[in-house]
Amino acid sequence: MLPHDLEAVIGLEVHVQLRTRTKAFCACPVVFAAAPNSAVCPVCLGYPGALPVPNREMALLGARLAIATGCDVHARSAFARKSYFYPDLPKGYQITQLDRPLATGGRVDVRAADGSTRSVRLRRIHLEEDAGKSIHDAEGDDVPPGVTLVDLNRAGTPLAEIVTEPDLRAPAEASDFLSRLRRLVRWIGVSDGNMEAGSLRCDANVSVRPAGTETLGTKVEIKNLNSITHVRMALEHEVARQAGVLRAGGAVAAESRLFDPASGTTRPMRGKEETEDYRYFPDPDLGPLVLDAAWLAEIAASLPEPPEAREARLAADLGLSPADAATLCATRPLADAFEEAVALHPSNARGVAAWFLGDLLARMGDSDRQEGRLPVPPGEVARLVARIDDGTISGRIAKELFALLCAGARDVDGLIHERGLLQVTDETPIRAAVDAVLAASEAQAAAYRGGKSSTFGWFVGQVMKATEGKASPAVVNRLLRERLDA
Ligand code: ADP
Ligand code: MG
Ligand code: ZN
Repeated sequence: MLPHDLEAVIGLEVHVQLRTRTKAFCACPVVFAAAPNSAVCPVCLGYPGALPVPNREMALLGARLAIATGCDVHARSAFARKSYFYPDLPKGYQITQLDRPLATGGRVDVRAADGSTRSVRLRRIHLEEDAGKSIHDAEGDDVPPGVTLVDLNRAGTPLAEIVTEPDLRAPAEASDFLSRLRRLVRWIGVSDGNMEAGSLRCDANVSVRPAGTETLGTKVEIKNLNSITHVRMALEHEVARQAGVLRAGGAVAAESRLFDPASGTTRPMRGKEETEDYRYFPDPDLGPLVLDAAWLAEIAASLPEPPEAREARLAADLGLSPADAATLCATRPLADAFEEAVALHPSNARGVAAWFLGDLLARMGDSDRQEGRLPVPPGEVARLVARIDDGTISGRIAKELFALLCAGARDVDGLIHERGLLQVTDETPIRAAVDAVLAASEAQAAAYRGGKSSTFGWFVGQVMKATEGKASPAVVNRLLRERLDA
């Protein structure tokens, strides 16, 4: 924890891999885990004379992301060359955007520690290409120890880089920002948002200053964070470290650092002491990226209802708690399935929500949630709730039916009739069951009458058992009370 007289200031640079079929400036397919160097061509290998051609889909997905975050998308943007030397950068430069980015402005709202909303301004979103991959720890009979291999399949993959203003004030806000951004890029279909696979990568900039002051402190950049948890851990460590330096009367060094997940600490990056000169200049091979206003309007019109708006609507219209609405809106396919079920049984949206939040989600792993793979189709969930609500079946039978549905059964109404699961509301058989249970449980009845009121639930359970779960709980309760409280 940070002493309360100090304040953390955080700004993020996030790389989002755009979900195009082909690379940013050539026709090579974008592949993951394919044979090394199998998806390459003269353009992405940087052969002399090869000419880049911008991918329309890259511009479309970049614009889609920019519009969804409220940015101004510029009618004209430009590509620049950022030169540096690295083995996985075959051209010796990266095509990126510098002073004329795709988009500027925009914002993403995050939840602050006190529960309030903090608006994080986006400075810019620009398009660029990814580098290849250096494989330092390669194993295999034909790989001599200490050798680094290079796989250029990723070279030229389109990225959108999002740069925030230093508006975040705590590590938890930074992780909330990334969670929301990841949900958004998936929600609007611009990226798979998979941090483990590198589709979302983050550099975190952080400084510490006396609380209540305006001047920014000296920042440290933590490079290449590849999970949301790592971002939070790295920032927590770094904030504490900088606070310690300041308390001891020292000065924080402006530097790039790396996070070591094993120790949970950051350490200076070797060879990054001097600021590099990237020798930026306009790419002479690429003209301006010109986006037609009508095309941008079309993209804007094609965007789905934003996740936060959908959460708010579900909470307000259906009477769900904000937390439950957020859970149901974790992914768009999940929210779609939920709303499909509610539309089929609109009189009890909260009942439908309870099944989704309980039994359904309990059986759905992360990829099921991403892809909306439900163990039971929304229509059957709706019918199940409807049959409980109209008194046809008891809650206990509903659980049994749910298990059958999960095992592949369909048609709730058919199952109820085939299996004789109709709820019994007729008093005669229930009264007989109540009498039988009471006759066999004199000790418990005496305990109940002696003041042990918690025994009542046990009696209900016994009668339900005797009626194979088919007795109407309301009737059981009433008859039991009549006999026990007499
Ligand atoms: P650089 O020129 O070193 O890349 P920029 O000003 O371009 O720095 O900012 C890069 C990122 O660092 C942005 O996300 C920005 O919000 C953040 N940032 C800038 N200054 C600070 C600071 N003093 N403390 C924390 N974050 C900062
Ligand atoms: Mg930077
Ligand atoms: Zn290529």
